[in-house]
Amino acid sequence: MEIELLPLVCPDCGSPIKSTKNDNVHFCSGCGKAYVVKRGEWKPIKTIYAKPILPSPDYNYIYLPFWGIRTILSFEEKPKPEAVIVETEVDNPFSAFLQKKISVILKEPDAKTTMDFFIPGFGTTNRYLLMDNIGLEYTREPPEIHITGPKEMCGGKYSLEDIIVIAKALLLGMQEDSRFLIKYRFNLTPVKFFVIGVPFYRENEFFIDALKGKRMFYDAVENIDEIMKKIGGGDGKD
Ligand SMILES: [Zn+2]
Repeated sequence: MEIELLPLVCPDCGSPIKSTKNDNVHFCSGCGKAYVVKRGEWKPIKTIYAKPILPSPDYNYIYLPFWGIRTILSFEEKPKPEAVIVETEVDNPFSAFLQKKISVILKEPDAKTTMDFFIPGFGTTNRYLLMDNIGLEYTREPPEIHITGPKEMCGGKYSLEDIIVIAKALLLGMQEDSRFLIKYRFNLTPVKFFVIGVPFYRENEFFIDALKGKRMFYDAVENIDEIMKKIGGGDGKD
């Protein structure tokens, strides 16, 4: 494995890049650009920061990275219409969402459709799924995003390659009948991707996203204490 020793400064604006030990996506503390290291060089990734919609009680927000990716979902063989379960159990909104996507595919001659995913770019602990699955909620119903200026952010654990694998797993987990997509082998091809800084605020043991008000446990974010120290969001306590 090659060891890359790069100065932790933004090649664009010269501000420090603050990363934690787990990060594979690094953020400039000045201009907010995201970078990955490829062949010993910083490679920029399109990054936007979302303006909070919901007010934080203390006007303090912590930005955490999410990936937004547009993919082409295609089947190697066009599914037969009878393969789709039309009567979807309404208690699973993700399944209903996927069924809708598949019904779109069935109408397309080339069995393809675009599908946008929002996936946490930060590492998640096993506490993440105990509350709202924010990535899945955003995937099903994307939040309204108003772009704001750069913010300090770190904790970008997952690379784009990881995210494609996670998106496939999400898709499999989203459907009612998991045999469906396995039976009809599918491909997910990324066509567009970017990093979104999503504002969160803290309320007791929760992080609440300031775009849709979804909740996760504070310690659902892997390595949160180190992240908080890096971005100056306090000591990770109250
Ligand atoms: Zn910079």
